[in-house]
Amino acid sequence: MSEAIKTDVLIIGAGPCGLFAVFELGLLDMRVHLVDILDKIGGQCAELYPEKPIYDIPGIPMVTGQGLTEALMEQVKPFNPTFHLNEMVQTVEKIGDPLFRCTTDAGTVFEAKVLVIAAGGGSFQPKRPPVPGIEAYEGTSVFYAVRKMEQFRGKELLIVGGGDSALDWTLNLQPIAKRVTLLHRRDDFRAAPHSVEQMRKLVAEGKMDLKIGQVTGLDGENGVLKGAQVKGNDGAMSTVSCDTILPFFGLTMKIGPVADWGVKLENNLIPVGTETFETNVPGIFAIGDINTYPGKLKLILSGFHEGALMAQKASRYVFPDKRVVFQYTTSSSSLQKKLGVN
Ligand code: FAD
Repeated sequence: MSEAIKTDVLIIGAGPCGLFAVFELGLLDMRVHLVDILDKIGGQCAELYPEKPIYDIPGIPMVTGQGLTEALMEQVKPFNPTFHLNEMVQTVEKIGDPLFRCTTDAGTVFEAKVLVIAAGGGSFQPKRPPVPGIEAYEGTSVFYAVRKMEQFRGKELLIVGGGDSALDWTLNLQPIAKRVTLLHRRDDFRAAPHSVEQMRKLVAEGKMDLKIGQVTGLDGENGVLKGAQVKGNDGAMSTVSCDTILPFFGLTMKIGPVADWGVKLENNLIPVGTETFETNVPGIFAIGDINTYPGKLKLILSGFHEGALMAQKASRYVFPDKRVVFQYTTSSSSLQKKLGVN
């Protein structure tokens, strides 16, 4: 086990509510690490609707999902939080009063005095393509995310999909792979036009292959892939030689490991009290879309309010001997100093 990263607060989920919680915790001097399964910051705003306008953020008449994420990142900058992306918190163990040990699927270990679950609708997980027997190759020859590009150097890659992820990874991995074949069910791509143009140029130059059709079966044994059977749109079958498949069929949200952390759940949501947003486990809080209480609205502004109240109670666990004095950012020189504006 790697050496534990010790922190005051660990936030699980770097969506808008997890991000604003960094600000509220920071004003009260708490150090924060955040973990997110996605390769980017911003949760649903960044993953599901980066370019869509949001009209109900208080004081901001219109901002896109990505715009809000960037504004929140700017706002939390003074507190210098550490992000651990591409990692899913898998286990949570209570080891003190309160003190929690959390482990991610990448083997990172945290010891945190306070845990804030800001996991939204749960973890984003890749959709598995309907190919018989694909499970036997997952983790050895089939991968749903690129964590380290080097892993794919010299590989014969079959990338499946027509969105931004499929096209971005085609372009990024083509220079280091032995050969890349991109497979999509039709010759029309949802990805950014510029990426599609670049891909078509590589195909025209003979530097990669493009096939139209769907994977119907896999050839190989013991998790080692040799090829994929592909059915073209005209019904013709062919075999694509490959040792690795990267399917990018989008993401779905599942409650995931949150269900195993010992916090009470109601219909896959975490019930909390509205004074502090603490769960049934002292020291573990739940804010944003993942929590439930009478009258809950799954709005970003609700999660912001929840983060502010959560931070007050969290501070009592992190600094048991310190009295929290309520202050305004407008008039408190000590808060302004923390924000670097005074
Ligand atoms: P999320 O944004 O869901 O972020 C949670 C994060 O936690 C995710 O990134 C996930 O990967 C991560 N995570 C989960 N489990 C784990 C784990 N075990 N380990 C590591 N990471 C984990 N709200 C509004 O207020 N106004 C709007 O106009 C609006 N429009 C919307 C439009 C669309 C199309 C959608 C889908 C939603 C909209 N919403 C809107 C809702 C809003 O996006 C959510 O309320 C908000 O994103 C909730 O924020 P959150 O931080 O709680 O969770």
